[in-house]
Amino acid sequence: MGKGFFHVPTAINEPVKAYAPGSPEREAVSKQYKEYFNGSVDVPMYIGNEEVRTGNTRNMTPPHDHQHVVGQYHIGDKSHAEKAIANALEARKAWAQMPWEQRAAIFLRAAELIAGPYRAKINAATMIAQSKTIHQAEIDAACELIDFLRFNVEYMSDIYDEQPNSDEGIWNRVEYRPLEGFVYAITPFNFTAIAANLPASAAMMGNVVVWKPSDSQIFSAKVIVDVFKEAGVPDGVINVIYGDPVEITDVVLASPDFAGIHFTGSTYVFKELWKKIGENIHTYKTYPRIVGETGGKDFIIAHPSANPKQVATGISRGAFEFQGQKCSAASRVYLPKSLAEETLNYVKEDIASFKMGSPEDMSNFITAVIHEGSFDKLAKYIDQAKADADAEIIAGGNYDKSKGYFVEPTVILTTNPKYTTMETELFGPVVTVYVYEDADWAETLQLVDGTSEYALTGAVFSTDRYAIAEATKALENCAGNFYVNDKPTGAVVGQQPFGGARASGTNDKAGSAQNLLRWVSPRLIKETFVSPTDYRYPFLG
Ligand code: NAD
Repeated sequence: MGKGFFHVPTAINEPVKAYAPGSPEREAVSKQYKEYFNGSVDVPMYIGNEEVRTGNTRNMTPPHDHQHVVGQYHIGDKSHAEKAIANALEARKAWAQMPWEQRAAIFLRAAELIAGPYRAKINAATMIAQSKTIHQAEIDAACELIDFLRFNVEYMSDIYDEQPNSDEGIWNRVEYRPLEGFVYAITPFNFTAIAANLPASAAMMGNVVVWKPSDSQIFSAKVIVDVFKEAGVPDGVINVIYGDPVEITDVVLASPDFAGIHFTGSTYVFKELWKKIGENIHTYKTYPRIVGETGGKDFIIAHPSANPKQVATGISRGAFEFQGQKCSAASRVYLPKSLAEETLNYVKEDIASFKMGSPEDMSNFITAVIHEGSFDKLAKYIDQAKADADAEIIAGGNYDKSKGYFVEPTVILTTNPKYTTMETELFGPVVTVYVYEDADWAETLQLVDGTSEYALTGAVFSTDRYAIAEATKALENCAGNFYVNDKPTGAVVGQQPFGGARASGTNDKAGSAQNLLRWVSPRLIKETFVSPTDYRYPFLG
């Protein structure tokens, strides 16, 4: 603490800009998109105060135009992981002692830089790297990231403010120390905001970080690094390395100073990481914090009392925005027989009106999926559905990777509630629908609960309060974020803290004080003002 009890600025959600035709923000982002698209950027690793270029490079190509190269990045090996750890630990000496209000100022400055001079840059980079429409880029790379930074600063100050009571003659104080060692952040391709938040939230609490971004997000990760540098994050506090994830991770998790992992990505990878941490447990100086937000098989269930147009809109937005590549995207839907035809007709109308193509053309609602691996996986499941007797494709079903990885928004109708695409996370613009008998509402709730290993998000649509109450109770354990009469995507920092349970993660709610508490190790200091001088208690006579 410095010389005052400082109050941080009250966090407010960053307003989402509209990017309507003719607006200045649209002009700015289009200009920046062209500049990045026609340029060539060389992205180094950032270790300590060095920009490390190994000469071993990989091209960066937009998913919607995979033969077009927008730059390259340099990949490292074991030695770079070791160097990143050494630099982080060196930086820790000063960073862990930095007064909290100085750390807060750095990250608040980062938020304002993104809200202002870096907004077009981070949005255009996200449109190119992850093939997001301008709206999807704006709500992620600009607004959600700004919100993470502002709200986390507020939560940090709330945490520091949380202090124990003190009896007469003593003073109890709690210091929220950073973890002793370094934090390893491994981030996914799909949200620029998550990529920035995983290292930043730990660093904000006084930790030093080794950050390994996804290979598919490095183009926008570079803008995050530029922002952090300009905001004043000191060298060595967040070290950024790329390369074979297993090779790098094996080095990082073998370090005695490994103190925590902040992961977002797929369930299988997280379980592998947990296993490796377990295998190395005798190596560590401290029990590492393990925080992971992972996969989902997110549902929408409509009650017979639901409004079919509202349900259809929930499906069209919830399943297909950003090509279904949100961990929260609706991918299994349960419709009552009485509403199914009308609801699905609305969904088909919506899909017929979607335009698909490059995000540069802002009239496109659907762009490309992230890479060839994802494209091929989706094509395989779509082909399988075409062949299977218990599945039928009622909308979409085509795909084409000649220029970009384009998969049509696809609806599979199944008669088998345990059909493979009702259970498996596909992570693409494919939703599977099962129609139930209206009378089987209660049984269908049990089906929703028991169908997948995940428990991330889910939604119920109904106008009947008894049905809503029944669903809320029956589905208590199958979603960490549960929505009533709304799509299951679009969580806003400070309003809907996000995370799921079961195979979906440790549910440490990104964008909440609960998450930040994982990155501190409290020290209680008890001070007695006048120490006793006789060991005898009165009961001894
Ligand atoms: P991914 O698991 O393929 O990759 C995530 C990160 O892990 C990347 O940086 C990758 O390089 C790294 N990685 C991959 N294999 C590894 C290994 N063996 N050891 C160490 N690191 C490894 O996931 P993705 O495709 O980038 O993202 C999509 C997944 O993320 C989906 O499953 C989605 O549900 C999940 N996700 C979850 C949330 C959430 O909040 N629950 C949010 C976003 C994404």
